[in-house]
Amino acid sequence: MNEKKLLDICVGGVWRPGRGEAYASVYPATGQPIAHLRAASVDDVHEAVALADDAFRRGEWAQKKPHERAWVLYRVAQMIRERAEELAQKQRLDNGKPITETRALVASAAATFQFYAAACESLEDSLTPARGDCLTMSVHEPMGVVAAITPWNSPIASEAQKLAPALAAGNAVIIKPAEITPLMALELAAICELAGVPAGMVSVLPGKGSVLGDALVRHPLVKRVAFTGGTRTGKQIARIAADKMMPVSMELGGKSPTMVLADADIDHAVNGVLYGIFSSSGESCVAGSRLFVARPLYAQFMDRLSDAARRLRVGDPADPATQMGPLISEEHRATVERYVALGLSEGGTIRTGGKRPEGKGCDQGYFYAPTIIENLSNTDRTCQEEIFGPVLVAMPFDDEDALIALANDSVYALAAGIWTRDYKKAWRIGRQIQAGTVWINTYKQFSISTPFGGWRDSGLGREKGRLGIQQYMEQKSIYWGMNAQPLPWANC
Ligand code: NAP
Repeated sequence: MNEKKLLDICVGGVWRPGRGEAYASVYPATGQPIAHLRAASVDDVHEAVALADDAFRRGEWAQKKPHERAWVLYRVAQMIRERAEELAQKQRLDNGKPITETRALVASAAATFQFYAAACESLEDSLTPARGDCLTMSVHEPMGVVAAITPWNSPIASEAQKLAPALAAGNAVIIKPAEITPLMALELAAICELAGVPAGMVSVLPGKGSVLGDALVRHPLVKRVAFTGGTRTGKQIARIAADKMMPVSMELGGKSPTMVLADADIDHAVNGVLYGIFSSSGESCVAGSRLFVARPLYAQFMDRLSDAARRLRVGDPADPATQMGPLISEEHRATVERYVALGLSEGGTIRTGGKRPEGKGCDQGYFYAPTIIENLSNTDRTCQEEIFGPVLVAMPFDDEDALIALANDSVYALAAGIWTRDYKKAWRIGRQIQAGTVWINTYKQFSISTPFGGWRDSGLGREKGRLGIQQYMEQKSIYWGMNAQPLPWANC
């Protein structure tokens, strides 16, 4: 993958270089380029949307019977599985996640296509209770061209999460992957084509979001945007969508609280808190980045947690023993470093980490050590803003009411974790926490059949779940007269 051959992008089913600037995808563990391509241009956006709209209107896909579309999606799932190891290795090179994580992401992408194939062929429209001699029903229709805009942290999984339900619903889809991680979306488009999705129904336009993403969102033929990324970008897109009265879904940022109660199973909680923040190097929307520990347990828990954080294996993403790889880019590492400096300036103290790790293959890539900061207040910026890196802020709490108030005191409301042996407390706290997902005695567990999304600045709408398909459809009510009785004004 290192030769300077330009990768083709997919513009309305035509594979060719983009008309935008040349750039390279870089392996974050070494800083070396692993693939070269030309980005799409705004003209490519217009061409892809026009071809997608044509392909959609031809009806070759949208008018297939659901079980026929499902069969193609099953094939996509199967083909992802057949190439799972190759895709996992490619994803590792594209964004530097450890191979154990990229294998899981590839498996999840296959499972997503399988799930939406099943959902597609079993989705029911409904007959609604009539209030007259009519057959009344609620049905769903595909929307047309859907834009899927994705970030760099879990490409194949987040792209599959949009592509599979949008295709299952009968739409054409244009993916705008993160500029720096274009490879998995291109692979998914190629697999869809081989599996039998008609040409033009899937396009992939790598390049700058502020240019291409913006052009896509504004395009009059784009009827729906599914966005995952930062809250600021999400709000910009939502404003444009409001002018078009276009439905959007927003999977945005987080600053999720993870709460360790005095009666928690300490081993289990240490392990869960570590995994919650440091897996994926903290580059995870649901990272449990604000830790609250019951005051009586605080000192003991923090000793155990910081020891364990120091022992995490940070290094070569290709090594299955590695637990934490590099950050995505030099620029992002610099952002993380600025936040750690901010934490110190706000009065925080570093319990562990707070620097670049040395040795063990960490000298070339964008590595940063697992970091825990204490002695901050929940109102400090370091505790309120999303860092999206391996940085945990830890604070003690005194009682349940104070804990709930602290946990909910954030503009974000994506996820939360509760560690306790007391099922009554877990239920009480779990119901009062404002978040799209609450994990109790576990963290970062996902199921494609369970809806996912955030409250407040963490998002709008839900992905996943059987009814996830309907997020990509317009609802329509049909009243069908069952007799020839004149209507009230039929008197002339
Ligand atoms: P980002 O900067 O918002 O970018 C996300 C995507 O939007 C990228 O493809 C980006 O293109 C594109 N984009 C940028 N500006 C745009 C614009 N004006 N119009 C249309 N598209 C535009 O976010 P990121 O830094 O890649 O990702 C990290 C963020 O994603 C974090 O906040 C994280 O919490 C969030 N996230 C949320 C979830 C969730 O499910 N809730 C999951 C994963 C990540 P470029 O590549 O050119 O920037």
